[in-house]
Amino acid sequence: MRKTERNYNILDTDFYVRVLIVGGGPAGSLSAIALKNYDVTVVEGHQSPGFPVQCAGLISERCYKELKKFSDCKVNDIRGAVFFSPNNNVELEGKVRAVVVERKILDRDLLAKASEHTNVMIKTKFLGVERDKAVLRSMGKRVELDYDYIVGADGVHSTVSKVFNFERPKVYSALQITCKFDCISEDLVEIYFGFSDFFCYAIPFDEFAKIGVISSENPTPILKKLLRWLGERVKGNILELNAGAIPIGLVSFVKNNVMLIGDSAGMVKPYTGGGLYYILKAVEKLEHFPNLKKIQKEYVKDLGIEYKVGMKIAKLYKILEPEDYDYLIGIAKERSDFAKELDMDKPSTLLKLIPLILKIVKKRRILMKLSSLL
Ligand SMILES: Cc1cc2nc3c(=O)[nH]c(=O)nc-3n(C[C@H](O)[C@H](O)[C@H](O)COP(=O)(O)OP(=O)(O)OC[C@H]3O[C@@H](n4cnc5c(N)ncnc54)[C@H](O)[C@@H]3O)c2cc1C
Repeated sequence: MRKTERNYNILDTDFYVRVLIVGGGPAGSLSAIALKNYDVTVVEGHQSPGFPVQCAGLISERCYKELKKFSDCKVNDIRGAVFFSPNNNVELEGKVRAVVVERKILDRDLLAKASEHTNVMIKTKFLGVERDKAVLRSMGKRVELDYDYIVGADGVHSTVSKVFNFERPKVYSALQITCKFDCISEDLVEIYFGFSDFFCYAIPFDEFAKIGVISSENPTPILKKLLRWLGERVKGNILELNAGAIPIGLVSFVKNNVMLIGDSAGMVKPYTGGGLYYILKAVEKLEHFPNLKKIQKEYVKDLGIEYKVGMKIAKLYKILEPEDYDYLIGIAKERSDFAKELDMDKPSTLLKLIPLILKIVKKRRILMKLSSLL
């Protein structure tokens, strides 16, 4: 249903601006909610959003507080993490607590909320642009749609990004299983270093856990190795298997009357692969719509430092060896109080700990690796 068929205020000039949002995932739905005063159409290629689930659902409490306005999708509360290296481990609690959410429910609720104010077309794929019209395939039929602006919220393999020749972020692979798991505690996530060139994780999810690998290399042998290492803590069979991709590195996301948001733009924490918080931050900047350049400028002003530090941490994962992690986790055990300074959404909180880290790390090889990034 187009807006003209509804009871909108036709004296409002925004009413005449047509915005096509490609993708009905969190970035698309949250953008549609933020742009509710415009004439918005959301097209979602699948028959429903959030399927297959490619997310572990771990977000900060701060992020959940925002999402909760639209969806009550919490599964577990998380108070901290146990960080493992192959031969060591430490339990740490940061400044901010976390929450595990059910993405299927979150994505459904967000799209439902968006549909209260916008025109949502499911099973409708954006194919490209011809003679200034968007070309869609909707329920098997070719459809052309007029637009003034396009918002590409179509995920890591974005068609909008390809059609309009945007720079593409680097992509890491992710492989995740759901199974019964003997968790250390229901309110602790487990992070495993030294298995891949990023990290692996186990996130409690009711009586199950989501166990996953993120890597720039083939994740399958890494997952097999991790499962062998976890041994009998992994119970029964794999109940769900998801292969996904994680964009690492923000790209320039505005061109003329087109902008990207979410995974399509690399709006993911480069040191964890978590995308939901950075999407929320980008959606906040839609208050400047339709000034797309200002949206980008404000976003970078706000989060530029976080991406910079985050990218350095991602580089560090690549150069640290398993025995380096054994050593660093040993140090963290002695000084676990430092974690209270750290905010999972803001890697820049690490900056003020650098002098302390450089003072207590005694191994020259590791110091050189740390210094090479500073
Ligand atoms: C294994 C894994 C674990 C993760 N864990 C976490 C986590 O714990 N916490 C966290 O915050 N983040 C996590 N993430 C990242 C998070 O899932 C993403 O950042 C987030 O889903 C991005 O949202 P999005 O809306 O940009 O893209 P998506 O969620 O990918 O949504 C894009 C939508 O666009 C649709 N689409 C695509 N192409 C077209 C087209 N041509 N036409 C119409 N529709 C189209 C798709 O069907 C899809 O519904 C994880 C990712 C992976 C892979």
